[in-house]
Amino acid sequence: MTWQGLLDAYRDYLPFAGDIRIISLNEGNTPLIQADRLSGLIAPGAGLQLYLKYEGLNPTGSFKDRGMTAAITQAVYEGARSVICASTGNTAASAAAYAARAGLRCVVLVPEGKIALGKLAACLAYGAEVIAVEGSFDDALNLVRQIVERQPIALVNSINPWRLEGQKTGAFEICDQLGGRAPEWHCLPVGNAGNITAYWMGYRQYGRGLPRLLGAQAAGAAPIVEGRVVERPETVATAIRIGNPARWQQALQALDESDGIITAVTDAEILDCWRLLASQEGVFVEPASAAGLAALRQQIALGAIDPAGKTAVVVLTGHGLKDPGVAVEQARRPRSLPAEVEALERYLVNRE
Ligand SMILES: *Cc1c(COP(=O)(O)O)cnc(C)c1O
Repeated sequence: MTWQGLLDAYRDYLPFAGDIRIISLNEGNTPLIQADRLSGLIAPGAGLQLYLKYEGLNPTGSFKDRGMTAAITQAVYEGARSVICASTGNTAASAAAYAARAGLRCVVLVPEGKIALGKLAACLAYGAEVIAVEGSFDDALNLVRQIVERQPIALVNSINPWRLEGQKTGAFEICDQLGGRAPEWHCLPVGNAGNITAYWMGYRQYGRGLPRLLGAQAAGAAPIVEGRVVERPETVATAIRIGNPARWQQALQALDESDGIITAVTDAEILDCWRLLASQEGVFVEPASAAGLAALRQQIALGAIDPAGKTAVVVLTGHGLKDPGVAVEQARRPRSLPAEVEALERYLVNRE
């Protein structure tokens, strides 16, 4: 059977009506990549089985497609003509794509000036109405929550329960890809905490064992770690630049039930792991996506996680091309040479 998207693949685990028409872009079924070089770097000699769940390979370049296929499918079933969301970018791009596919009007609210270029470009290409809100993500989400009380427009932020239904399939896939078992550690970035909540739902429902959860917040946007709302969240990892997570309580519950850990990682630690993922394993992600690895490395170094013989999955939530600005800022400038083979040869030999 060819893959026709995660709602089709995991239909028996999802609470949709029997006659539903699925809106899909064949999302899901993303690779679980074994990362031996990184394992050797963060836990030398420990025999840590480290895997990268590369969610940047979903149709719009982030895990948001898992939830969006479900939310848009249900919205269409309920007769919606338009959808709205607040977003740091990836939810917006995903909503825009699935709305286009379903023939719905799509309005997205983004914090002014804070959206990565690849995400904005995608929203515009898919034909969404993009509104830059003079405020933070949290302000934009407040607006969305209010407008859906006044107007007949479907909300597709992760406070929409169908988003979590779709996203929980990530846990099913990981268990299937590991040969029918959960890993010991499941590591991921935490912004609004929809994904950590959804993964925990998924592992519990699937019954293939339970991992311990390791959540990573950026140090400048770590409300759950600090136990207080952060008024002006700041981090290079724009996808997790959130000061008041919508699913705060559920995240705490998932962490508690899994005997998990939530920790803050600095932008320097995030960028270091972002670079390692690309340079050591050939996996290019957006900065927020490297936070899970940064947290795992930090906790192993602190002795809070014993990596010996363990299996850890790190979820890489979004593709590197989402944020070309950061990639270019962080990179060395390309070398320029005359178009002569001697010049190229001199360069190659001198670099040895
Ligand atoms: C949305 C997003 C996150 C955060 O997920 P939450 O469900 O909000 O915790 C992390 N990384 C990327 C790339 C995202 O798009």
